[in-house]
Amino acid sequence: MRYSALSVFLNGLRGNKAWKPAWRSPSPKSHYDVVIVGGGGHGLATAYYLAKEFGIANVAVLEKGWLGSGNIGRNTTIIRSNYLLTGNNPFYEFSMKLWEGLEQDFNFNAMVSQRGVLNLYHSDAQRDTYMRRGNAMRMHGVDAELLDREAVRKMLPFLDYGNARFPIQGGLLQRRGGTVRHDAVAWGYARGADSRGVDIIQNCEVTGIRRENGRVTGVETSQGFIGCGKIALAAAGNSTVVADMAGLRLPIESHVLQAFVSEGLKPFIDNVVTFGAGHFYVSQSDKGGLVFGGDIDGYNSYAQRGNLATVEHVAEAGVAMIPSLSRVRVLRSWGGVMDMSMDGSPIIDRTHIDNLYLNAGWCYGGFKATPASGFCFAHLIAREEPHDTARAFRLDRFARGFLLDEKAVGAQPNLH
Ligand SMILES: Cc1cc2nc3c(=O)[nH]c(=O)nc-3n(C[C@H](O)[C@H](O)[C@H](O)COP(=O)(O)OP(=O)(O)OC[C@H]3O[C@@H](n4cnc5c(N)ncnc54)[C@H](O)[C@@H]3O)c2cc1C
Repeated sequence: MRYSALSVFLNGLRGNKAWKPAWRSPSPKSHYDVVIVGGGGHGLATAYYLAKEFGIANVAVLEKGWLGSGNIGRNTTIIRSNYLLTGNNPFYEFSMKLWEGLEQDFNFNAMVSQRGVLNLYHSDAQRDTYMRRGNAMRMHGVDAELLDREAVRKMLPFLDYGNARFPIQGGLLQRRGGTVRHDAVAWGYARGADSRGVDIIQNCEVTGIRRENGRVTGVETSQGFIGCGKIALAAAGNSTVVADMAGLRLPIESHVLQAFVSEGLKPFIDNVVTFGAGHFYVSQSDKGGLVFGGDIDGYNSYAQRGNLATVEHVAEAGVAMIPSLSRVRVLRSWGGVMDMSMDGSPIIDRTHIDNLYLNAGWCYGGFKATPASGFCFAHLIAREEPHDTARAFRLDRFARGFLLDEKAVGAQPNLH
């Protein structure tokens, strides 16, 4: 069923009784061409593009929980392509272009909102690094504007300009950045993949990876053995656990990242704004809640919950940026498990085991990458050749010394 204004109208006339479930709940077949481990954004997008762009639809997505239970349904919904490095920038811009056409492409309302992402700067040195990043973006054809203090004041008059510990000097703005409703992305890709024949199997945990003669042959799951030609790992925060099933040790650590939502307020933040003198980012949802977050908790964990010390740390940065935030009540907070790589950049590559493919290391920036990640991973699986924009995301780059350290903080996963 195609969603449209007409179908909403006609279904309304019929008492909304004719809507079909957006995807099926099939039992697993005994064999698939491709099994994708992880029904998060990246796994579902991979399945969608495998079926749609590369004609491979005999695919199963195995999800141990329910769709959207992982980071795809836990992130702060920010999308942007404001990267400095040549290995990163074209990939994230490719993703931005896919976001721009996504709702028409998969016929689902994902509330893509290009409301602008503004990174504040607070010193001359920071202005210079932002100017450099903005110039690199523009050289790649990506939009970037360096704003001075008065231009920022016009956009965000409620920030602390007069008496701040870290006075705001200006900001780097990417107008095409913004937010997307995260769980609708999972649902849209799931529906699009399912309608092309992909089996999405929820409550199906992969517990083992079977290998014969150096190649993978299938997965052990909580619903029995499933044979396959290729296995694609897209397990985000659980990547190390799943890869371990094939004897693969990854250059990745798992860390907790928390997010927060406040009570509903009248609209006052039109954009996504990030603090430059600490780690804090905020936007306002259509319901009026402030959606915000900050640093990861700083210790390794597979738990989807964080600690109170980080709540205080995030609130401190938030109030330093918007003093009036101190009077706002927080309604909810939650955590997600981040697959933090050693250089802060992702991995989309084959592994040394035949027919085992890896998509991981998204740190806390993988939501914005969802469309390009799915497209490039599908390209690699189908054509055995990396997509042009994802050539730098090699697994062996750590051994070869070709790191993609966007933040230049070194091999410190907790700092990326
Ligand atoms: C609080 C928070 C805020 C964030 N904010 C942003 C942001 O604003 N912008 C941005 O770009 N990124 C953000 N991110 C990062 C982004 O959400 C992730 O990088 C991205 O969602 C990871 O890819 P995914 O969607 O495939 O992950 P997930 O949704 O976690 O998918 C992985 C799936 O694998 C499943 N799985 C794991 N093990 C198994 C197994 N053995 N068998 C079967 N299934 C298994 C899990 O249940 C899970 O559903 C944020 C993350 C968090 C937690």
